[in-house]
Amino acid sequence: MCGIFGIMGHPEAANLAYLGLYALQHRGQESAGIVSCEGTAFHEARHMGQVAEVFPGEVLRRLRGDAAIGHVRYSTSGSSELGNAQPFRIRYHAGEIAIAHNGNLTNAGTIRKQLETAGSIFQTSSDTEVILHLVARCRLANVEEALVDALRKVEGAYSIVVIARDRVIAARDPHGFRPLCIGRLDGSVCFASETCAFDLIGAEFVRDVEPGEIVVAERGGVRSVHPFPPAPAHRCIFEFVYFSRPDSRLFGQSVSLARKRMGAELAMEQPAEADIVVPVPDSGMNAALGFSEKSGIPLEFGLIRNHYVGRTFIEPQQSIRHFGVKIKLNPARDLIAGKRVVLVDDSIVRGTTSRKIVTMVREAGAREIHVRISCPPTIAPCFYGVDTPLRAELIAANNTVDEIRRFIGADSLGYLSLEGLRRAVGSSQGFCAACYSNDYPVPVEGTDVAQMKLFEKPRR
Ligand code: AMP
Repeated sequence: MCGIFGIMGHPEAANLAYLGLYALQHRGQESAGIVSCEGTAFHEARHMGQVAEVFPGEVLRRLRGDAAIGHVRYSTSGSSELGNAQPFRIRYHAGEIAIAHNGNLTNAGTIRKQLETAGSIFQTSSDTEVILHLVARCRLANVEEALVDALRKVEGAYSIVVIARDRVIAARDPHGFRPLCIGRLDGSVCFASETCAFDLIGAEFVRDVEPGEIVVAERGGVRSVHPFPPAPAHRCIFEFVYFSRPDSRLFGQSVSLARKRMGAELAMEQPAEADIVVPVPDSGMNAALGFSEKSGIPLEFGLIRNHYVGRTFIEPQQSIRHFGVKIKLNPARDLIAGKRVVLVDDSIVRGTTSRKIVTMVREAGAREIHVRISCPPTIAPCFYGVDTPLRAELIAANNTVDEIRRFIGADSLGYLSLEGLRRAVGSSQGFCAACYSNDYPVPVEGTDVAQMKLFEKPRR
């Protein structure tokens, strides 16, 4: 769960990276960083906190140069601290480079152990650092060739941008787990996790970086190579369910429309006798609209979100999450009182959010509450870059749907089936749905270790 951005050949590279990261803020709020390159000089700023807070004007003015990469982070591997804030920057035998990574390398633990045994000294607890060590150990002086050599050794999920003296390189793993797209602005080339970043800076969306593709943007132009053997696509289906911004185009289609189709499928699979459909904002908005249109039950904005607090769940500490729902959501009582309500949300993870929302809607006078979830039960943790708790904490991994219904206090509970979700995203092929199927397309090192603690003691 991170957002990455890169730009090559623009006099305002750092300012544009800042705006790009601002648009990608939903992908991570723990830390933000930009590295720019001016001739042979690198400049960097990395801080804990959100983009708007951590890059005041005087900091951005320092980040000179016509090339820059940036990163917003929510830790899925390595702990939440400044040392793990990206981009990571190193100086090695062939010069200086910096990297920003979204995803999780599934064999990073093994490689790290091997490298440490051979004498490598790691500075962070992040899986991304493994890539830098592999690049630095490669004898090839060309950064692009060294990067390919490094990426051949890692497995799992990576969308990355790398900046070197004279180029910005973007790469996506052969399975294409995480998104990465290419844009164009005033003759410069840019890369971003999601197209919403291009919209803000006025860049034109060109296309996705393809799975297994490496795109090299230099001052003289752009090149693309496919150095890895072809592999089956495993694009993250959860990006459509929750993670990406609805105004982005993802994996070739609109996130908003995919979510509306999820809602429509849900209305067909899990109908409810009710007076109103109420979305849980913001994540349930489009699915609720699709549910309402398909079922003919009117949509009401029965829950109002305070937009000046961070997303619940995104803070790593359970203690913060607990009070999150209350400060974030408030029912519009006059819309809800006396009504039979279909409450639509995107997912139930631990169940604590849904339980609080159901209680809140009940206290606002709802006569019946029918919870509908626009994805299947989340039964397995993600090891490819989305933060999910341990299996033991996933309510659907350990309880039946009826037990979950009772826990959250709803009158009925219905989930979208995996087939329904696949129909909504337009394909039964090419997606990773491990969180719903427990079927991991790329082997992981131990299937019950929290990703956050890849190099530390598992959270139990
Ligand atoms: P809970 O069931 O209390 O753990 O929280 C579920 C809510 O958190 C859902 O309604 C989603 O909007 C949101 N959510 C689901 N998955 C994630 C995730 N991986 N990261 C952040 N928020 C999430």
